[in-house]
Amino acid sequence: MASGELKEVASLRQEVRTWLVKNLPAKWGTPEYEPPERLSREAHELGKSFTGRQYNAGYTGFRYPKEYGGIERPSSEIAIIREELARCGTPPGPLSLGLLMVVDTLLAWGQEWQKQRFIPKILSGEESWCVGFSEPGAGSDMANIQTLAVRDGDEWVVNGQKCWTSMWEFADWSLLITKTDTNAPRHRNLTYFIFNTATPGFSRRPLRQMSGESEFGEMFLNDMRIPHENMIGEEGRGWYVAMSSLTAERSGGGGASVMGISGFGDAVVQNIGGVNNLVELAKNTKRHGKTIWDNTTFRHRIAQLAIENQASRYFNTRLGINLRKGAASANEFSMSKNFQSEMRKRQGDMIMEIIGPYSQLINGDPRAVDDGALVYNMLRARGATIERGTSEINRNIIAERILGLPRE
Ligand SMILES: Cc1cc2nc3c(=O)[nH]c(=O)nc-3n(C[C@H](O)[C@H](O)[C@H](O)COP(=O)(O)OP(=O)(O)OC[C@H]3O[C@@H](n4cnc5c(N)ncnc54)[C@H](O)[C@@H]3O)c2cc1C
Repeated sequence: MASGELKEVASLRQEVRTWLVKNLPAKWGTPEYEPPERLSREAHELGKSFTGRQYNAGYTGFRYPKEYGGIERPSSEIAIIREELARCGTPPGPLSLGLLMVVDTLLAWGQEWQKQRFIPKILSGEESWCVGFSEPGAGSDMANIQTLAVRDGDEWVVNGQKCWTSMWEFADWSLLITKTDTNAPRHRNLTYFIFNTATPGFSRRPLRQMSGESEFGEMFLNDMRIPHENMIGEEGRGWYVAMSSLTAERSGGGGASVMGISGFGDAVVQNIGGVNNLVELAKNTKRHGKTIWDNTTFRHRIAQLAIENQASRYFNTRLGINLRKGAASANEFSMSKNFQSEMRKRQGDMIMEIIGPYSQLINGDPRAVDDGALVYNMLRARGATIERGTSEINRNIIAERILGLPRE
């Protein structure tokens, strides 16, 4: 690198560091910093405002098309910015599925005005999104949805119910899959829309999960009117649009994930952190006068998890590179998703074995280990094997589309 270039690198590094000092929340990175509750309005607003400032500074939104608000910078600068942001850690983004599913869906299927109107506000964190696919009788079998949209001039009148809607509470907009033809065959009778959650006829309420929180909720659509221009893709072709959304979700946000913004990459990092924590926990937990780490069987099992984490990391790196080259197969994301979520579940179960009877104590109990965070992670890990397609559904995809096994 020429000395001029070195100077530029150093000055960008300094610029980002100065920016971080000014923009991170007070006491960030110190034991005195008290983060807001994970799913609270406060957490959401912090995510929005921090993402907005990051975007305005040109520190996020990389490699999305410039005409839709993407930030263009040379790769060398992006790498430095990322390094500096990662060094301090930053608050999570807003409670939204915008980056994970909506941007890729719009890029693939959206009308020009939709891309221009919505993508920049997702990149900047200004608008949040949720996803209305699942219904009480249509989860894995999404083609069975019953929410009906009927055309009325320039509008569609929608009636139905959606459930398990993640990030439901503060979403400004939602993706929506509806049935629009009661006579057409399965998969060819669905139409895909977007709608604003301030629309009359829309209401939502929480659903409580086994982890104790209400990360997802349910949405009710009663004679809710959606403008015709809010359709994504063509009438009757909603199934194919939804498949793009689900592929983006399984890949951890398509483009976003390989850029290190969100998605499977982060989940792996969490797991690697998790294995290190597991070692610490085993070394610090005593039973019958010995530490858990002294027990060969536990050590072997922890080593096995560490190996699996590493394998998963390499697999995801390869997927990321292929994705960037446009050569990733959508089906491979089923492998990545299943491997990780099942591993996370095993990890949670092992932690419960290590802490023994303390695994019964949750957040709020003064004797709960790590203030109940370990138990929470174990409980939340179950959801990871269901969301983004259950493990069984992803195994079906792997069996049929990767291994070429016959359908039953
Ligand atoms: C944490 C979390 C967040 C979620 N977020 C959203 C969201 O934001 N938006 C949204 O629309 N949905 C969301 N979901 C819903 C999720 O997509 C569904 O729960 C999932 O698709 C499974 O559907 P179901 O719960 O109706 O179970 P079912 O489909 O009824 O499945 C029940 C059981 O049968 C098995 N099964 C079903 N069909 C088959 C088959 N063909 N072969 C083998 N086994 C089968 C399943 O694997 C499962 O074990 C979320 C779910 C969770 C847990």
